[in-house]
Amino acid sequence: MLASLRNIVQEVNGARSLGQVLAIIVKEVRSAMQAGVCSVYLFDESDQRYVLMASEGLRSESIGKVRLAMREGLVGLVAAREEPLNLENADKHPNFAYVEETGESPFHSFLGVPIIHHRKVLGVLVLQQETQRKFGDEEEAFVVTVCAQLSGAIAHAEATGALRQLASAGRGKSREAMFRGIPSSPGVGIGRAVLVSDTADLASVPERFATDTNAEIEIFRTALESAKEDMRNLGEGLESKLSSEEMALFEVYIRMLDDRSLGGEVIAAIIAGQAAQSAWSSVILKHVRTFRKMDDPYLRERAADVNDLGKRVLGYLQRNEKKTLPLPRRIILVGEDLSASALADIPVSRLVGIVSVKGSSNSHMAIVGRALGVPTVMGAVDLPWAEMEGHELIIDGFSGDVISRASRSMRRVYLQRQREEKLLAKDLEKLRDIPCVTPDGFPLSLFVNTGLRQDIAKALKSSAEGVGLYRTEIPFLMRSSFPTEDEQTAIYREQLQAFAPKPVTMRTLDIGGDKDLPYFPIEEENPFLGWRGIRISLDHPEIFLAQIRAMLRASEGLNNLRIMLPMISSVPELDRAIELIDRAYNELLQEEGYSIQRPEIGAMIEVPAAVYQVKELGRRVDFLSVGTNDLTQYLLAVDRNNPRVANLYHALHPAVLRALKEIYEQATAVNCKISICGEVAGDPLGAVVLLGLGYESLSMSANSLLKVKSMLNQVSKSEARRLVKRALRMSDAGSVSVFLSDALNRPELSKLYRPVIADKS
Ligand code: PEP
Ligand code: MG
Repeated sequence: MLASLRNIVQEVNGARSLGQVLAIIVKEVRSAMQAGVCSVYLFDESDQRYVLMASEGLRSESIGKVRLAMREGLVGLVAAREEPLNLENADKHPNFAYVEETGESPFHSFLGVPIIHHRKVLGVLVLQQETQRKFGDEEEAFVVTVCAQLSGAIAHAEATGALRQLASAGRGKSREAMFRGIPSSPGVGIGRAVLVSDTADLASVPERFATDTNAEIEIFRTALESAKEDMRNLGEGLESKLSSEEMALFEVYIRMLDDRSLGGEVIAAIIAGQAAQSAWSSVILKHVRTFRKMDDPYLRERAADVNDLGKRVLGYLQRNEKKTLPLPRRIILVGEDLSASALADIPVSRLVGIVSVKGSSNSHMAIVGRALGVPTVMGAVDLPWAEMEGHELIIDGFSGDVISRASRSMRRVYLQRQREEKLLAKDLEKLRDIPCVTPDGFPLSLFVNTGLRQDIAKALKSSAEGVGLYRTEIPFLMRSSFPTEDEQTAIYREQLQAFAPKPVTMRTLDIGGDKDLPYFPIEEENPFLGWRGIRISLDHPEIFLAQIRAMLRASEGLNNLRIMLPMISSVPELDRAIELIDRAYNELLQEEGYSIQRPEIGAMIEVPAAVYQVKELGRRVDFLSVGTNDLTQYLLAVDRNNPRVANLYHALHPAVLRALKEIYEQATAVNCKISICGEVAGDPLGAVVLLGLGYESLSMSANSLLKVKSMLNQVSKSEARRLVKRALRMSDAGSVSVFLSDALNRPELSKLYRPVIADKS
């Protein structure tokens, strides 16, 4: 039974749609249990009924048609009680409801198991048998395990929209639909969806249909030829190192791509209506599943080869598609798990919105959205993203709503909001050349966070005092291989030159976590607690030193560079990094004749361990900067990238405020400069809190700077101190937000932030 379970889970994980997931479950569970019928009913939110979504054993015409009310029949009972029901003679049970169209009359025994995901009943799996017998305890336990293991896959497939598509088939034209996500960058964007799927990930290819069959076949043949060429070259390159049997494998793979084999199957699928990419991935995934199920271990291992071959051809298909697809005038990027690298494929000037199914408001994609000033919604888990290509969407970056096929009246409302936003932005422009000083005379320094090329112009326009955080990993993310030292020098020089003589704080490479370089993937169980930031740099001094040398060389003659180290969690880490920086510096000066001023060196405080070592760290560096994005996630043990726990992530949580107070006091006690570069600095309410805590230097996205300046120019330091004193004594984040929002709810201030309404639940 364990082997069957493993097989089912493996197959389901490779499936690409809810239809496939369910088909595999009913087929495999029926066979493992040797039952007459295996069916899955899923709850359809839109009409509050359980729909028969898949069955092996019942009449196929009834699939999608049979709908049971919430408490109707045995299925309704299992769902309501949230526990299995195992009956020898189902038709004798008082709740039994006979559904004629299924053809279930010969079946007497019944085992129904609820499919529950995160406390929510998604549906019921039912087994039926002709003979009158109760399913055994072991059998019941097996089905309970299957349901528990597969509920996540079902929920995910549902979330990506397939349920909606299947259930509404044949019910007329679809209407306006609204999907809820996490508001991640304010503003309203109206445009057309452009889908981005993971490069060469077979399972994430959306189902698309061919508009021009011949063109799709042509695209496919070109990709096949390129892949065959690769295989030949690879084979030739390895000829001297491989045995003749191993060499023969290359021939086998090339032949597999022929028209008589995989190639032919895919062309048939394209002729049947699929686009090349979806046809290719469905065929390959089907073969991978078949190989994985084989008993012979040698043949089982071939699954990996077919998968690799599949990815190689898909890579070519995606590259060719990128060249040929016409892009809309106003682009909304839509994807399952978007990262900044998606921007490399589109003209960013046309980007008006970003929506990602995964991720949360502090994911790096959200930060990039804010930096670009593009309305962004993350964690839109119910969005049928794979079906959205070309659809007109409205992105509400204030509320997190994504609207498809908006009605005219809805569109008008949003156009009006866009106009209001523009007016506010225009109004704020007046502050550009005014210093940031509180009404009681305390000056603050406002810096910008940068990373993208586009940030430079925006940052310069915002009249920032310099760059408080330049995320060097962003240019790395936009490429297909590590940039060389010379290439890095050119990138950094552009930044330093644009802002000179104002300081530019360059953070050394901070990859890992949710920032994976496409060419340096890091597969980890727990990436935010794993190989990240400075840990990678210290393990790869060759990468770190090249980066430091590039920064130093870029600063020659400008002398406005500051170097900042991310994810510092111990003193030896910091000592080692400084030692390497000094080594690079001395080499450039003494051996290569450069004339460079030694830059200021700083460390980020973004790990709880660093909070308790501020003095030791502060004594070793010229400045410290608090990364509240990570500090919040680590203090609250809430993954900043996980929409499921997004409601628990609060940068104004009393625990975070107390840590910020401690950091400020410890840093000033050792005379170390201290600033904030996490997103809280760009939140007008957050900025008031930071003012009250004593911070005088804040770094934020250019788009937030004037709003923050407007706030700080109107709230005195003494008022901010009073507010913070009370907030620090509060017991939860919700109370802090409501308190601050109420306290600053004056007409001239409340237009700068979204007033928070108390949650009465
Ligand atoms: C932070 O963690 O607050 C920070 C500024 O760094 P990043 O968001 O890039 O992790
Ligand atoms: Mg960080």
